[in-house]
Amino acid sequence: MKTYPMFIGGRAVDAGATFAVVNPALGEPFARVQDAQVQHVDAAVAAARAAFPAWSATPDAERQALLHALGAALEAHTPELMELVTRETGKPLAGLDNVGAGMELGGAIAWTHVTADLALAPEVLQDDATARVEVHRKPLGVVASITPWNWPLMIAIWHVIPALRTGNTVVLKPSEYTPVATSRFVELANAILPPGVLNLVTGAGAIGAALAGHADVDKIVFTGSTRTGKRIMEGAAATLKRLTLELGGNDAGIVLPGADVAALAPRLFGAAFHNNGQTCACLKRLYVHDSQYDAMCAALARLAIDVRVGDGMDPQTQLGPVQNRAQRDIVQALADDARACGGQVLAGGRARPGPGYFFEPTIVAGLSNGARLVDEEQFGPILPVIRYADVDDAVRLANDNPNGLGGSVWGDPALAVAVGRRLECGTVWINEHGAVQPDAPFGGIKQSGIGVEFGRHGLAEFTSIQTVKIMKA
Ligand code: NDP
Repeated sequence: MKTYPMFIGGRAVDAGATFAVVNPALGEPFARVQDAQVQHVDAAVAAARAAFPAWSATPDAERQALLHALGAALEAHTPELMELVTRETGKPLAGLDNVGAGMELGGAIAWTHVTADLALAPEVLQDDATARVEVHRKPLGVVASITPWNWPLMIAIWHVIPALRTGNTVVLKPSEYTPVATSRFVELANAILPPGVLNLVTGAGAIGAALAGHADVDKIVFTGSTRTGKRIMEGAAATLKRLTLELGGNDAGIVLPGADVAALAPRLFGAAFHNNGQTCACLKRLYVHDSQYDAMCAALARLAIDVRVGDGMDPQTQLGPVQNRAQRDIVQALADDARACGGQVLAGGRARPGPGYFFEPTIVAGLSNGARLVDEEQFGPILPVIRYADVDDAVRLANDNPNGLGGSVWGDPALAVAVGRRLECGTVWINEHGAVQPDAPFGGIKQSGIGVEFGRHGLAEFTSIQTVKIMKA
């Protein structure tokens, strides 16, 4: 079994202790990573701080070229990294609608190159006989990146590349469930970047909090649960660290009356079940008009029964296991609660016996807001389908949630846009759900987060503004 090192100041570091990483399809360890102590966090932050002056002063074109070289390294190691992603997350190599490890690598590569080519040119606000006023963007310093287990490599890229592009240095702490592909990426990156520019600590327990609370960290970018996001925000207060928090979602989809059920059902199923529902912007509550409710429920249940669930290393597999046992327990508890409060389980509803953390793809009818499965983020392969009588009611029910990441409306585009604009969320999709792209900002409102990622708006979050006023008279 291979053991992966951490990287601090450009050097591979052993912590003196390691922990096992489990393949969720088998319930067995397949790799080991370093079990960091707080002193490794201190060393990594110190290395990032030491590297900051030279990296932030590196000419823009040079930084861009190095980031493109990282993209090329990802491309050159795609099969190896795909396999590591599949073994640690359980997601299939290809997967339902091709949303699998192949997409994770493709996304990581695309985001790296597109972000490398973004720029934040200075703005000129005034230039007249009296004065010239310019707005410049400066890097913040040391960025701490804390990444989750659902898209571990792609989200690491989402955090790291814009941070480096704008001249910051980084300490990256992956989820203890899925640190392997990220460790390998950081190893490849350290053969390209100057020492200390990108550091990695792996560990569990107090490591995330030690990093997020570190006095010499200037910004935290975190993707994960709302609960942990709130704790990070508390810890950041002492030194007023900048924050980007991409937290939970409970995205609603509204199917407008008159929609084509047969055509829409597979697309809605894919939006809800890709990566086993373990994506922040999966479709998590589906509101369907009374006139088509029964037909849509039946079509979705058929798809849930037919979808191929198995080990992600098998190219035929469309859905893998839930990534970890604790998350599968959450999904099981929500299914049990749904049954107990009158929900009709039309497909699935149970964990699969045998090795691994499998859960049957599940469709639940007959619930509405107020049931746990509707109100709480399930983050797993179970979808509540909710009946509505009129569109105003559907909008009210969709907005009746503390989350506000994404939402979608399905039907005639002009009408759907008008309905979508009323949804309280950071992104609204029309006849689509969950697709993100590297040049369009993405982030949550309400308790789904703070700030945005991607594109120029996302890049700006890794900078501070410096206004320069030059008097002429
Ligand atoms: P969390 O989202 O709670 O995050 C765990 C990570 O945060 C670990 O790396 C941990 O490090 C770190 N951490 C914990 N406490 C702190 C702190 N005070 N300061 C800084 N870092 C800290 O992960 P879970 O696995 O518990 O996920 C639970 C739920 O999160 C899921 O059910 C799902 O709803 C949601 N989720 C959302 C995702 C998204 O994409 N938005 C992705 C994954 C999960 P350490 O172990 O060292 O403390």
